[in-house]
Amino acid sequence: MPQTDYYKDKKYCPRCTDYVRYLQSLEASFCVSCGAKVRLFSSADKRAFLRSLQADKDARKKGSKRVS
Ligand SMILES: [Zn+2]
Repeated sequence: MPQTDYYKDKKYCPRCTDYVRYLQSLEASFCVSCGAKVRLFSSADKRAFLRSLQADKDARKKGSKRVS
């Protein structure tokens, strides 16, 4: 099994400033240790993620005019 399950099982808790196990509710997810709302990524990771998405988009735009 690859180690990529890490981010599936854990979310970022801004109060713990770490990736934590969480409880999933209908509207949000909550840290199991402090009860704060957790996010999928830390803000730093989110920036990196968005940047990689943008880079991917730019690469595709340059690559070809048609998208099939
Ligand atoms: Zn927490």
